[in-house]
Amino acid sequence: MDANLYTLFRSHFSEGPEQPFAMVPDGPVIHYDELAALSARYAHALRDAGCNPGDRIAVQIDKHWQVVALYLACLRAGCIYLPLNTGYQRSELAYFFGDSEPRVVVCRPEAEGVIAPLAPTAKVLTLGAAGGSLIERARNAPDDFETVASAPDDLAAILYTSGTTGRSKGAMLTHRNLASNAVTLVEEWGFVRGDVLLHALPIYHVHGLFVAIHCVLLAGARMLWLSKFDSVEVTAMLPRATVMMGVPTFYTRLLAEPSFGREACRTMRLFVSGSAPLLPETFTAFEARTGHRILERYGMTETGMNTSNPLDGKRIGGTVGPPLPGVDLRILDEQGTPCAPGIVGAIEVKGPNVFPGYWRLPDITRNEFTVDGFFRTGDLGTWTPEGYVQIVGREKDLIITGGLNVYPREIEEYIDALEGVAESAVIGLPDADFGEAVTAVIVPRPGQALSEHAIISALKADIAGFKVPKRILFMAELPRNAMGKVQKNILREHAADAIKSVLSP
Ligand code: AMP
Repeated sequence: MDANLYTLFRSHFSEGPEQPFAMVPDGPVIHYDELAALSARYAHALRDAGCNPGDRIAVQIDKHWQVVALYLACLRAGCIYLPLNTGYQRSELAYFFGDSEPRVVVCRPEAEGVIAPLAPTAKVLTLGAAGGSLIERARNAPDDFETVASAPDDLAAILYTSGTTGRSKGAMLTHRNLASNAVTLVEEWGFVRGDVLLHALPIYHVHGLFVAIHCVLLAGARMLWLSKFDSVEVTAMLPRATVMMGVPTFYTRLLAEPSFGREACRTMRLFVSGSAPLLPETFTAFEARTGHRILERYGMTETGMNTSNPLDGKRIGGTVGPPLPGVDLRILDEQGTPCAPGIVGAIEVKGPNVFPGYWRLPDITRNEFTVDGFFRTGDLGTWTPEGYVQIVGREKDLIITGGLNVYPREIEEYIDALEGVAESAVIGLPDADFGEAVTAVIVPRPGQALSEHAIISALKADIAGFKVPKRILFMAELPRNAMGKVQKNILREHAADAIKSVLSP
């Protein structure tokens, strides 16, 4: 049977102009029949440019609804969609093009001169709001295209991991991986044709591209398509939506917006959060302000979504819910024994959602899977008594000080609860005595003067001495990537420099 993801989506589209697919504020309304026709024309244009099934199509373009048609065109032509963060610069792009060897690169018209020399063996096509060579090539192509039949294990996409630690690797995702996760999420989150998803996420990442758009396509629902997140615009648009998916920063920014409240949420049925930890404090404040309990879920590029708080049933702040149906999730201690609730261990997952490996990295792939086929996520977590998963942090962020393990998240929660603290990040810095020294970087609330001494004294009353930061640094803001993840590698460099300059002025 044909396992092409587009074929699955297509069976849920409605025909004709009655059902919009995307509504762009102050812009066009795009219907499902237009989306299908444009994806056919782009598929013809790709094929005419020499693309065959299995070829990689690298895409670095600003968020525009036509990018969704391009993504679908790649699926239809049996090609592998390879989206790139719009922030990537020359040296990063050269690495991605060299590693993935795309047949075609699609970029903004104004970037063509920069991109072409970086991808000398690829054909460069352009797509922008005001036109581009892909649009020209597709203009007179037929509105129909016979979608290539795909096997479940054929690759549909390669997504480079966000690389907050180490070099970015290409995660290969199959039609089966994406389809199985999409079907599960539509069911679990109750997506129906009448839903309107407010889409303000970037579309080069698993969250905005797969989780959000797949739920919509598979339900034949529609989207309010925003080019970026702006709390004033989102507050104004929410009364036209029923669902929003966001990173935690969306929620903290909405809470900081005075006009945001119950009235703005009157048509909403669901708020979903993921990609980075949602502070329990944000969960509570959001419920108090709007009456909605944010549904937090946990996933990653390599696996899609693994766990989710329930649609109906208890959503617990600070947890990411139980494993999704079909996902086998275990938490193991250092000896490989399953952890009892409350004990922290390494999270491993297995299921149809889990990727087959990293592009052209068979050795690394082998190391990241256990002999019985579980993927080592690199995340540390624990079971709650209810059988929900709580994420404690990344294995690589674990601090070992004087031989003892310190989980940054635990210390961050204590610090965040202190008066005058807006947020914090805890890292380990090399230390001659301890191996690593627990170090906290704190963002004070506006107008608050905090002292290192006072914070350390307050923490000493709450937690064991070895967990208390040896040093505290203050910053106006934490460095985050586009998905709201704190970039601890940057923070480590910054903190090490700051401490050095204090010691040797
Ligand atoms: P990415 O591949 O960019 O989506 O990053 C995946 C990583 O983000 C996971 O391995 C987790 O470390 C983190 N992550 C995703 N969702 C959550 C969540 N709800 N809470 C805590 N961390 C999360």
